[in-house]
Amino acid sequence: MTTLNRTTYICGICNTNPDQLSHHTAHLNSKTHQEQKIICEYNVRRYVVDFLYLVNNNYWGIYLQNEYLDERMRTETIPIFEDWVVKKSYDIEKKYNLKNNYSECYVSKYEAETHKKCDLNDEIDKIIFLDWKIMYLIKQAETIQKTERSLKHFDNEMIHKINNNEITIDELFNNYVNCFCFNDDNDNYNDRRAKIIKNNINLGYIVYSNFKNKFCFKFVDIVTTVLGQTEKRKSPYWFIKDEDLTRDKSHQIKKLIIAFIQNLLDNVEEENEKITKIKNKFLSGQKNFSLTILQELFK
Ligand SMILES: [Zn+2]
Repeated sequence: MTTLNRTTYICGICNTNPDQLSHHTAHLNSKTHQEQKIICEYNVRRYVVDFLYLVNNNYWGIYLQNEYLDERMRTETIPIFEDWVVKKSYDIEKKYNLKNNYSECYVSKYEAETHKKCDLNDEIDKIIFLDWKIMYLIKQAETIQKTERSLKHFDNEMIHKINNNEITIDELFNNYVNCFCFNDDNDNYNDRRAKIIKNNINLGYIVYSNFKNKFCFKFVDIVTTVLGQTEKRKSPYWFIKDEDLTRDKSHQIKKLIIAFIQNLLDNVEEENEKITKIKNKFLSGQKNFSLTILQELFK
């Protein structure tokens, strides 16, 4: 159980998985990355609207127009040319995780870094500046720092594995069964509690692995007025992604989770004494099944 925040790095150009700094640095020096970077730069120069200024207006008008007409032959629903150019531009920025802002925002950075003066109304200044801006945006996207939340109950390494599909639900289920602790008569209150939490944590990994892209959890401000007194409090809300986000869906989510676990337990190939005990325990505990410990995973 770790409570430290974990910092990882991704390359937004190649969309790598979050990794530690040394691996990320090795990635930046790899041939694959160097090649992707050239392709990225080409796409930025060709499509991103800010940089079309670097190409003679007639040229980009002609070559993009040709590409547009080509695409229009193949697709039925296509916006008018001007909107298509903007969409292409936006798509490229999104694909390579470029955080592109108005050029004015970058001038002071440019002047500090290059010790050159820049007047965006001057043609030569602007060309040199835009060229620098392309490389600046790419460099920024090459290294995106991500800090993962610290988790109170769950293990960050395990969550990292689940997020990157490095562990299957079957493996998590086996782990849940193998590590399952039953109470015995000599247990005091604390022992019992510790065992329940341990079981719930292992169950949580399975649930998270299956539903991580489907459920989310938030604390929502609820304002109530009773007899003229307004009160604001934070309420736990569960949502199903792509569905109505105004109502708490915890009942529905609970049912889905229970059905899913039930199904896993029903489909165990070789049933032994332990499995039978777990099944009975799960069956008797369904009413009291709580989503609380799962909150931190789905936040
Ligand atoms: Zn890369």
